[in-house]
Amino acid sequence: MRPRALDELKQQIPLLDYLQSQEWRPARALRGGRWLGLCPLHTDHKPSFLVDPQKSLFYCYGCGRGGDVIRFVELFHQVNFLQALTLLREWCGVTPLLNAAIDFYRFQLHRHNEPLAYLDQRGLRSPEVIEHMRIGYAAGSGLRGWLTQSGYPLAVLCSAGLITKAGYDSYIRRIVIPLENNLYGRSIRSSAPAHRFLPGSKGGLYLWEQVRRYAEVILVEGLFDYAVVWQAGFHNVTCSLGNHLNARQFQQLCDGPRAVYLTFDADANGSGPRAAQHLSRRLWAQGIKARRVQLPDGHDPNSFFVQGGEASQFQSLLETARP
Ligand SMILES: [Zn+2]
Repeated sequence: MRPRALDELKQQIPLLDYLQSQEWRPARALRGGRWLGLCPLHTDHKPSFLVDPQKSLFYCYGCGRGGDVIRFVELFHQVNFLQALTLLREWCGVTPLLNAAIDFYRFQLHRHNEPLAYLDQRGLRSPEVIEHMRIGYAAGSGLRGWLTQSGYPLAVLCSAGLITKAGYDSYIRRIVIPLENNLYGRSIRSSAPAHRFLPGSKGGLYLWEQVRRYAEVILVEGLFDYAVVWQAGFHNVTCSLGNHLNARQFQQLCDGPRAVYLTFDADANGSGPRAAQHLSRRLWAQGIKARRVQLPDGHDPNSFFVQGGEASQFQSLLETARP
């Protein structure tokens, strides 16, 4: 990449905007319009990460690392220089596009009976949770037309993975839930693979920014688990999209003192309990109070609530959870 093109890319992406999109929040204002906050590159307990928005540079007094937005992406996502450039280019283009797609999908949800019946069957009954999670429905057609009319070139839709190379909508008869920089699609047919994502990272913990202020956090595997736990009034819940956390998700759980209730599936093959045990050890090693919640055999949080489990019963499970 030519130096000029690099400068243009950097100008397009102010460091502070990028940091905020990754859930970084300034803790304190300093002279000269600069900000200080917790360092997102390691477990930080007192703000040591300095950001100068005018120069678009950062420096951490804790770990001694600093640089521009590209350097930050390299360190934060643990990628090389060229991969960092790719991530930044995607970041420029993908966020508004995903929002436009999810607007379309949310509008479609209420025009079809099938997805609403599916949500009902999975225990998602309150309009609040559908609104809170911005749940939509991909019927399987119409997205391409909607987005091209909104001015997005077809090539952009294909490279984002929303439209197939053959020109069709990629998500067909799926409940769609927006993630940080991706879209989760749950098939409502048994004939198709259950889960689908766009190419690229699934990102950090689900809606972490809304949860991190709680002293106690409930961690579940799936978004439908998340939905019923949230709906039952436990708003301190988050989701890791599987029982194996990526580096960033783990770091998020460790970004402050808290207790974490690992509420993984109690599946018969033991993979949920094993993952919870392993994660619990790693969290304790970081000073995080992890507790393993024991669901009745064969249950996940979704089936627990769908089959009549009550909030008070779930609360007792939390209270009897062991390290
Ligand atoms: Zn640092």
